Amino acid sequence: MSDFEWSNIMGLLSRQFTCAYCSANIASDRGYRATRQHPLEGVRYVYICHHCQLPTFFDEQDGQFPAPRYGDPVEHVPPEVQGLYEEARSCISVGAHTAAAICCRKLLMNVAVDHGADENLNFCNYVDYFIEEQLLPYVAQGWVDRIRKKGNEAVHEIKPVQKGEAEELVSFCAMLLKNVYEFPHLGGSVPQGDKGTGGAAQDSPESSKPPPAEDK
Ligand SMILES: [Zn+2]
Repeated sequence: MSDFEWSNIMGLLSRQFTCAYCSANIASDRGYRATRQHPLEGVRYVYICHHCQLPTFFDEQDGQFPAPRYGDPVEHVPPEVQGLYEEARSCISVGAHTAAAICCRKLLMNVAVDHGADENLNFCNYVDYFIEEQLLPYVAQGWVDRIRKKGNEAVHEIKPVQKGEAEELVSFCAMLLKNVYEFPHLGGSVPQGDKGTGGAAQDSPESSKPPPAEDK
């Protein structure tokens, strides 16, 4: 990509931002400017990242497109769950909030079924399952209850999901994934065949066994 040269590039006021393509936190002063006088004055910019040479658009309200993926990465997550989480983060960065909510619901279903829940439950049932199975911290349960109500609306009602609602759902998924996969791995207490097949345990021959019928 660095072999490409942008033509007629101009000097701009330096702008600091995180490049969504290469994740570098940069201050760029190279790119393009478009101005409008009527009906309202406005300026739009394209800034070129000097690390990866790719363009980022800023609208009149300083909205960045593409925006960096929302939220933090989580480690030691099974590939199919990781894919859903990253897809949800990417959806938010392009304003696809309803799609992000649907990814989050599918993610919850994957994690819950991975830990012994039935398939095709609704959003509330899965959140309840995580609480009953103590897969969520007790101190977060007030917040989780609010997420449960909003999340159910997000995936079952006609109206589109709002940005803040989608961001809360992704944050909720991040907390869950850290509790279920990342922290146990870091602490050396990855479940060994009693619950779940995710994380480091998924490569074990134990993971091919069905979960015990009665584990709660
Ligand atoms: Zn870049």
